[in-house]
Amino acid sequence: MSGHENHPGSSAMAGGSHGSLARAYYRVKPFVPRGLRWLMRRVRIPGIMKRHSGVWPIDEASCVKPHDWQGWPEGRRFALVFTHDVESQTGVDRTRDLAELEMAYGFRSSFNFIPEGPYPDPVELRGWLRENGFEVGVHDLNHDGHLYESREGFSRKAKSINRYLGKWGAVGFRSGFMLRQLDWLHDLNVLYDMSTFDTDPFEPQPEGSHTIFPFHVRPPEGVKGPGYIELSYTLPQDSTLFLLLREKTPEIWQRKLDWLAAHGGLALVNIHPDYIDFTGRGNPSETYPSALLQEFMEYIHSRHQGMYWNPLARELALWFRTRSSAAPPESPQSPPNHDPASP
Ligand SMILES: [Zn+2]
Repeated sequence: MSGHENHPGSSAMAGGSHGSLARAYYRVKPFVPRGLRWLMRRVRIPGIMKRHSGVWPIDEASCVKPHDWQGWPEGRRFALVFTHDVESQTGVDRTRDLAELEMAYGFRSSFNFIPEGPYPDPVELRGWLRENGFEVGVHDLNHDGHLYESREGFSRKAKSINRYLGKWGAVGFRSGFMLRQLDWLHDLNVLYDMSTFDTDPFEPQPEGSHTIFPFHVRPPEGVKGPGYIELSYTLPQDSTLFLLLREKTPEIWQRKLDWLAAHGGLALVNIHPDYIDFTGRGNPSETYPSALLQEFMEYIHSRHQGMYWNPLARELALWFRTRSSAAPPESPQSPPNHDPASP
């Protein structure tokens, strides 16, 4: 299928630039009110929906299993990973409520914080998350849309990111706005990156990884290092469903989860505490009720209990890397697009 040509690691996926128009957008973005930003994004929805109706929220071509795939640990049918990007002080303030909601359902997750962004380093909160079995990761550096503007600039910023990774004991990274240059990420001391998605035409760099499995991004020729594991999110972001598309139920999450389970893939979601209304008094254009999350978690329990593996992102990445390093070299006969880890 033609939709499968841009497998992970291909240039369209790894590189691609988000273009001068997008760069101009990020320059003026801080001055555009948030309500207007959502409006500007909503105007484009009908066109995007029409062009991508066959590949979102489900891209059937993305369920091809990695080379030599032997399934998830403990004989589980699929993997379920919760991740969170904390975008603002509001998100920091709501992190504990979200973590507690997850604990009530027996889930654990990763929270990614912006090191030099709109809020001070939440030292105590990071400690509390760790003590309760959650993971802390790094989300961008400044979260201003400029991370990948130049190669030199990225190398310089990578040094700062590495400093925070070390200081926070973190091994995972995700860029702001899902911008990415997978080849450059070898500058980071990470076990895994999560700046990609299987399919999400609503993002500024809309090319998907076209896989619902993890893959190993190996360094290019001449570059030293072990590479890193790429974990694409495969369930739409909460902001896309409930703020952009204004869905009133978690039906799309549920339908996609059932499909991911049926194909034995990785169900990975990015939920922002910033947008969750835990009080019932939130502004409906900027938040959605926490009841939607609860409904989704109830659904997971009632439909898929005992079927999934719910590791932290770093546990899954470590498991996959160990498995991937032990795997025999790829057979030259295998079709090139069938192993997402192939260069
Ligand atoms: Zn973000």
